[in-house]
Amino acid sequence: MCGIIGYAGLSPALPYLLKGLEQLEYRGYDSAGVAVMDGGGARVVKSVGSTSRLKEKVSGQTFTGGLGIGHTRWATHGGVSEENAHPQSAGPLYIVHNGIVENERVLREELQSRGAVFFSETDTETIVHLVHRAMEEGKSFPESVRSVLPLLEGAYSFLMAHADPAEPLVAVHRGAPLLLGSCSHGVFVASDMTAFPGEVHSMIPLEVDDMVLIRCDGRFEILSLDDRRERKPEPIRRNPYAVHGKGEFSHYMFKEICEQPAMLDRILASRIRREEERLSVCFSPDAEKVLSGVRRIRIVGCGTSYHAGLFGKYRIESLAGIPVEVDIASEFRYRDPVLDPASDLLVALTQSGETADTLAALRMARDAGVPTLALVNAEGSTAAREADATILLDAGPEFGVAATKTFLSQIALLTLIGLYLASDDRLREREGKSREEILSDFLKIPALLDKALSLSAGVIDIARSLGEVSTVLFMGRGGDFPLALEGALKLKEISYIHAEGYAGGELKHGPLALVEKGTPVISLLSPDEKLILKMVSNMKETLSRGAFLISIGSERHQEEFSSVSSMSLALPDCPPLFFPLVSAVPLQLMAYHTACFRGLDVDRPRNLAKSVTVE
Ligand code: GLU
Repeated sequence: MCGIIGYAGLSPALPYLLKGLEQLEYRGYDSAGVAVMDGGGARVVKSVGSTSRLKEKVSGQTFTGGLGIGHTRWATHGGVSEENAHPQSAGPLYIVHNGIVENERVLREELQSRGAVFFSETDTETIVHLVHRAMEEGKSFPESVRSVLPLLEGAYSFLMAHADPAEPLVAVHRGAPLLLGSCSHGVFVASDMTAFPGEVHSMIPLEVDDMVLIRCDGRFEILSLDDRRERKPEPIRRNPYAVHGKGEFSHYMFKEICEQPAMLDRILASRIRREEERLSVCFSPDAEKVLSGVRRIRIVGCGTSYHAGLFGKYRIESLAGIPVEVDIASEFRYRDPVLDPASDLLVALTQSGETADTLAALRMARDAGVPTLALVNAEGSTAAREADATILLDAGPEFGVAATKTFLSQIALLTLIGLYLASDDRLREREGKSREEILSDFLKIPALLDKALSLSAGVIDIARSLGEVSTVLFMGRGGDFPLALEGALKLKEISYIHAEGYAGGELKHGPLALVEKGTPVISLLSPDEKLILKMVSNMKETLSRGAFLISIGSERHQEEFSSVSSMSLALPDCPPLFFPLVSAVPLQLMAYHTACFRGLDVDRPRNLAKSVTVE
């Protein structure tokens, strides 16, 4: 997690570091710090909290140095404190670090036994002590960095600067993302492209085991652990939908929820092709190649992406009749899954394209000879580069830590994959409609998302009723079940209310014991004739135990569900295949408004970060 940035060039580094850290804050926001090499030595400023606190702390001070590093932290080793904030240092060396040194305890004990004095609880500090020790043994600074890398276990990246500006800035990629960006006045290196200022025209995504030496005049050299490497810079393509800032919105999350109708319109316009009045689904040639002839799909993801994957299983199996297995990526990678290169396709879902566990699962499949397809929002990310094919989520940047529009994009694209793989006959048999009719229905969904957004008064009333509760249960059947899991996750993430999602039929197998007078139970009711009455029975089971029933369904079945509910929302009617896309909107809004009523920091929930680059 965490965001790191470095700059070496002709301009003062500090303003670039602060601006870059602001952009990287979604990756971690416990504490922040900078070190600027300012002629006579390094100047370090650190603070607990967000980068705005750091900015306040440096305001009024003049830093002229053109070489510096910065960090916004998501603590893994050691509490949130100024001592543990980065940069960490030893002698003339300063480090900012993203990731974990898994063997830090052994290294720390060994260093301490030889006299090193530690000032923090971080694993990061062991790296800088090791490099310092190597320098004291007579090695040059870059040589010292290179010599300690084989000692460090785990996935990480770091930037290390020397107080003497004649020494280079050293960047190391050992499994956590780092990009090198160039412009006329210098070189940037950062965890994410969003940290680069507008004048950066080209970039080089670094690869595992790259080490880069960046001089203060902007020259740089990419080395690997044992030789020199040549890389071609790529021009930077900035996302045309990247509207920066919150605009008139109170929070990024709210803005991102409201962007969904336009986003879905855009996705469908690019993925549904019209040829001589015939509609069909299309992807890039690479994606179509890995999808062709697939006999089993293995989806992996974490958190919200896992829920999207589960939704994909329901849709792809029923539309295309192809078996789909879904795994939490961190389980998949350690559970010896049986992979078959002759039949399987691994689909990796990761918004950032950098999720450590999802990348590991993708690499496992690739090593087993299984073709891989990544669904990512970040173009140029590690997953996009390493998979055989990529489908971009095309959601535009998402800054709210709680995923909203990227989830909607994932479930829309997985539905499109199901429709792409389905035969005409099967579609007619399962959905009672032609491909043409189903795709025209899909094209009408963005307008329904708009309508769902306009029901905010009802959602706000529900959110108000949740303001003081301690547990909420969500339930749904079919495609609504993954939605129930996701609705519960959203509420947990940003309002800190304990929430669980269940399949409607599961409540009586245990969780019903949690229901007492007033326990809110939120039911999702897609207009699916097979399931609707089953759901209403499940609702009545909770009602008999005193539940406070809240239901979200379609206008068509309003009568059935509102008569048993204390509060309900009737969404515009649409085919059950697409209904969860519409009901995702009030679920997100409900979590958002509940968190607002509780006075919480919606965009930066405690203990979380957006891009999870550690295990
Ligand atoms: N492991 C380091 C720490 O706890 C870095 C964490 C991060 O990636 O922010 O300070």
